Amino acid sequence: MDNCRFCGIANGSMDTQKPENVKIAESEKFFAISSVGALVEGWTLIVPKHHCCSMKNLYTEEEFSTFSNQLVSILTACYGPVIAFEHGPNREGSDTSCGTDHAHIHIVPYRSLMAKLDDMEMEWQTCSASQVCELVGRNEYLFYCEPGTKWDNPTGRVHVLKEPISQFFRKVIAEDLGAPDKFNYKTNPDTTLTLKTIERVRYYCAKH
Ligand SMILES: [Zn+2]
Ligand SMILES: [Zn+2]
Repeated sequence: MDNCRFCGIANGSMDTQKPENVKIAESEKFFAISSVGALVEGWTLIVPKHHCCSMKNLYTEEEFSTFSNQLVSILTACYGPVIAFEHGPNREGSDTSCGTDHAHIHIVPYRSLMAKLDDMEMEWQTCSASQVCELVGRNEYLFYCEPGTKWDNPTGRVHVLKEPISQFFRKVIAEDLGAPDKFNYKTNPDTTLTLKTIERVRYYCAKH
């Protein structure tokens, strides 16, 4: 896709002078980068190299599981257990995406958001990552799970969206951190924590 940052990173055409565009891990079909506008250190995105709207068809792929497990174990070693979530749009330009039309899942070293989500009077269905696709059909969705220290088709919960919501999980975490106005990464594209993550993960990988 033209002007897609993640496609640019995948194929190497994106400005690699910019340190935040560096891949921190890579497999044949996926890569991981440190998130711009990260609200906590260690905030990472797993991205398919192939441009598509959402991750729902990829959760069943063995390569995705292997790669995710590898990344989760690195992040766990550096920062502790992780949660994971996806804003799942179903078309280009949807408000549900968080500013990019290229699929990705967020992997974040953070405490459980289950109680927070329960408080929100939204309907959630329990499901494993591999069940997301059949549960949501063509609808847009939010998926949340707690892989902890390893990715093994984690069980989580999915909410089928009736209308688009932008940067939903960023809002939940920003509020939980007591900094609700920081949720929007477009107006808050800070790379301080992004670069710290890259440095820490690199250091860890060089030692192991
Ligand atoms: Zn793309
Ligand atoms: Zn996102």
